[in-house]
Amino acid sequence: MASTTPKLISDKNEMRNWSRSMRAQGKLIGFVPTMGFLHMGHLSLVSQARSLCDVVAVSIYVNPGQFAPSEDLSTYPSDFHGDLRKLASLPGGVDVVFHPHNLYDYGNNSGDAVVEEGGAAASCLESLGLGHESWVRVEKLEVGLCGKSRPHFFRGVATVVTKLFNIVEPDVAVFGKKDYQQWRVIQRMVRDLDFSIKVIGAEIARENDGLAMSSRNVRLSPEEREKALSINKSLLKAKSAAEDGQVHCDKLKNLVIQCITDAGGRIDYAEIVDQNNLRPVEQIKGPVVFCIAAWFGKVRLIDNMEINLSMDD
Ligand code: AMP
Repeated sequence: MASTTPKLISDKNEMRNWSRSMRAQGKLIGFVPTMGFLHMGHLSLVSQARSLCDVVAVSIYVNPGQFAPSEDLSTYPSDFHGDLRKLASLPGGVDVVFHPHNLYDYGNNSGDAVVEEGGAAASCLESLGLGHESWVRVEKLEVGLCGKSRPHFFRGVATVVTKLFNIVEPDVAVFGKKDYQQWRVIQRMVRDLDFSIKVIGAEIARENDGLAMSSRNVRLSPEEREKALSINKSLLKAKSAAEDGQVHCDKLKNLVIQCITDAGGRIDYAEIVDQNNLRPVEQIKGPVVFCIAAWFGKVRLIDNMEINLSMDD
C-alpha cells in the first residue's frame, strides 16, 4: 500500500531493484512517464494506474533526446517540489517518483561515439556528446502529424520510453491521448518489440473552458490563452458537423483552420486520420481522429478529437 510521501529514486539500478522486489511480492506495477510540471491531466493518468495496479511509479524526466536544439528544452517549465506535493495528495499517493539526473550518462564510455552534426533528426542529445547512439524508431507512425515539423521527436520518445520500460519494468503503463500519435507510437513499439507491458490510453483532461491541459499552457499570455480556446471549440464544431452527415474531410478541416486562423492562431497541421494507422483520410468511413497543432505566439499547442460515427445510419 502506498504511503502519501513517495519514495524518491534517481539511480536506475535502485529503480530496477525496487520494481523487482515488488514483483517478487506478487505486486502489479503501474507506471506513468512524465516530464514534470504536473497538472490534472498527468494526475488523471496516475489515478488510472493506481486503480489498475498494486503499486505505482511516476517518472519525472525532461528528455533531451526528443527536443531539437532549436526547441524549448532549457526553458521547459519545472516545479519538482510542487509535483511531489501533487502526487502525495492523490488518494493512495504514488509509491515511487523516479527522477533520474541524466539517463544518457554512460560514465567512461561517454563521448566515444561519433557526434552527429545537425541533420533532420538531430536532437539536443547529440550536442551533449555522451556517446549515445542507439535509437528506437517506429518507422511509419512517426512520420506524419507532429513528426513532420519535429522529425527528431518520436525517435527520442520511443527511445526514452524503451529505456524507462527497461529500468522500471512495469506491468501497465498509462499514456495520455492528448499526445495521440505518441500513444499510438508506444503501443506499436510495445507490440512490435514484444515488451510485456499493457499500454493504456487515458482520455484528454481539459480545463473548464475546454482548453486541453498542458505544461506549456503557462507560457500563454491571457490573450493567447483566450485565442487558443478556438482549438477545442472548432474541433467540437467539426465533430458535430460530422455527426450531422458532413463526412468530407476537406470541408471539416477548412472549418477548423478558418476558426483557429480567425482567432489569431497559426496552424502547424490540421489532419483527419485513421485512429489506428494515423494515415490521412478523405472521407470519414470509420473511426478517425482530428489532430491539430497550432501556434499561439511562441507556444505550440496540440489537441485532438476522436470521431466515432455509427456507419449503419
Ligand atoms: P508530458 O509530461 O507532457 O510528457 O506528459 C506526460 C503524460 O501525460 C503523457 O502521456 C501525456 O499524453 C499525458 N498528458 C499530458 N497532458 C494531458 C492531458 N491534458 N490529458 C491527459 N493526458 C495528458
